[in-house]
Amino acid sequence: MKDLIEQILREVGEDPTRDGLKRTPERVEKALRFFTKGYAENPHELLNSALFVEDYDEMVIVKNIDLFSMCEHHLLPFFGKCHVAYIPRRKIVGLSKIVRLVEMFSRRLQVQERLTSQIADTIHETLNPYGVGVVIEAMHLCMMMRGVEKQNSVAITSSMLGTFRTHVETRMEFMELIKGKTSV
Ligand SMILES: [Zn+2]
Repeated sequence: MKDLIEQILREVGEDPTRDGLKRTPERVEKALRFFTKGYAENPHELLNSALFVEDYDEMVIVKNIDLFSMCEHHLLPFFGKCHVAYIPRRKIVGLSKIVRLVEMFSRRLQVQERLTSQIADTIHETLNPYGVGVVIEAMHLCMMMRGVEKQNSVAITSSMLGTFRTHVETRMEFMELIKGKTSV
């Protein structure tokens, strides 16, 4: 990978042998491997490793999960917040695993739409809950750094499954609980 990055440096008109760039290919490779480490991880295994049987059947929400991913069209970052909710049917999952699940899918080349539904689908398949809702609010550097007057645009995507799709009240409750600043 280092040779390819060195070649890119040349293609953009740089001199890869100058001091500041000497170790850049190595650093870029390391960064790219980190940003895409999610390919090597199994999301179902992750959730299955912390499943518990519990009679709780009210909405569980983990909101404001920091999200950093890479747009597959431009290989530029997009970043923001992810909010996840589900209504358990006998099975609950460790809350930290939901955060890890978001990270796992973020550390791949993504489009925000697919990232959103992958998170929802995996929870739905693994936990078989009454419903799942996932909302992502993100800013895309590929939009912000190109052109004008796009610096503050936020892309919002959502995936609603089960009762979150069929029941307006459930969906509204979720949307109400994630809006605004967190109080903690
Ligand atoms: Zn892009």
